[in-house]
Amino acid sequence: MTFATLGLIEPLLRALETLGYQTPTPVQAQAIPAVLAGRDLMAAAQTGTGKTAGFAVPLLQLLTMEGPKVSANSVRALILCPTRELAEQVHASVAEYAQNLPLTTYAVYGGVSINPQMMKLRKGVDVLVATPGRLIDLFRQNALKLNQLQTLVLDEADRMLDLGFSEELANIYRMLPKKRQTLLFSATFSDEIRQLAGQMLNDPLTVEVSPRNVAANTVKQWVVPVDKKRKAELFVHLMRKGRWKQVLVFAKTRNGVDALVEKLQGLGINADGIHGDKPQATRQRALDRFKSSDVQILVATDVAARGLDIEDLPLVVNFDLPIVAEDYIHRIGRTGRAGNTGEAISLVCADEVNMLSAIEMLTRQTLTRKMEQDFEPEHRVPDTDATGQVVKKPKKPKKPKASGGGKRNLGKWVESGEVSVAEPSIKPVRKVPAFNTGPRKKK
Ligand code: AMP
Repeated sequence: MTFATLGLIEPLLRALETLGYQTPTPVQAQAIPAVLAGRDLMAAAQTGTGKTAGFAVPLLQLLTMEGPKVSANSVRALILCPTRELAEQVHASVAEYAQNLPLTTYAVYGGVSINPQMMKLRKGVDVLVATPGRLIDLFRQNALKLNQLQTLVLDEADRMLDLGFSEELANIYRMLPKKRQTLLFSATFSDEIRQLAGQMLNDPLTVEVSPRNVAANTVKQWVVPVDKKRKAELFVHLMRKGRWKQVLVFAKTRNGVDALVEKLQGLGINADGIHGDKPQATRQRALDRFKSSDVQILVATDVAARGLDIEDLPLVVNFDLPIVAEDYIHRIGRTGRAGNTGEAISLVCADEVNMLSAIEMLTRQTLTRKMEQDFEPEHRVPDTDATGQVVKKPKKPKKPKASGGGKRNLGKWVESGEVSVAEPSIKPVRKVPAFNTGPRKKK
């Protein structure tokens, strides 16, 4: 299959060729014809599947082929994203796909001055990428009208709910024209997402792309059990031993990011950190320096890392496991993209056993554990498996099997560590607020 057989116009085919896209990814193959046909879409696809082109390319074609010129302060297509990083990244992709088209594109998000954004919107913008809060601010200040809106995209809808944007989404829903095309992309189809889809979408086509077919099956994953207080020491040890060159590290909290960066810098290691407390310009600079290899280790929180698109990233380290199991999939999706192999290593302490268990349940696999010599934890990490069972007490040691090489056997044990991430279809681990289109409740 080629992009031409999907019915794309020549300027778009040329742009995709310039970008080196030869064959549509599975989500693109399904989404592009459906969007061109005007269908609403509910797509389960995560970062790394090529979902951005899946919605943006046909949307750009529809805007080019039909509809009136954009009016002052209006937008014809709106792409909502959970974070500014993702908004910027999606906008960069949209602008690349639109390079040969007579369309205008722009991104708005919070944390930066609103005035330049208001100025930019004056003439109207064909495709606007926005985070929910800033979009509402702009709308309330009359800098933005939505009556010309043809297409709405909710990108990473599950993440928007996770980040507590359900009220904002409800407000935006009330601002939208009734007649429009709506495309919803989400890594998971939780009950909340289905509820949101029920309200926002009209007879949607459901597209599910198993990550098994895409990037994640090239990611080698394993866990190194360690005591909490020795994690930083273990990280430095593994880094030196493995001669790591470029590593994206995830820490749970902003303080955790700062502490690790400080420790690494103190050892003369070229490290930087990004989290929500840092100004946008600082975050962008750290990211740019990481991308250009001026920074070797980039430590990030999940929120700050949303939307980072770093090609050929060889290694992701989970310094802490994520509280929300789905974030594990997002994190490891940063590596092993576009057929490259990648590694994802998680440093796990006894406190994190429930998170480990949730991740194994979600991904339907038992992660290989590799004990690092001299770092064996005093507080043992209880055994886990993909059924969600946490074995609190140490098992009685079994006689090692002749072929087992002393390795433990935990049911669906994966020997090689080269495992695929199964489609994340079970309920979210953390409850997210329900989407509510009704009036705001008084608190
Ligand atoms: P996304 O899932 O949209 O974040 O895309 C993940 C990465 O895959 C991005 O770097 C895209 O530029 C790239 N990509 C998307 N579609 C294709 C394609 N059909 N062929 C090659 N690379 C692609």
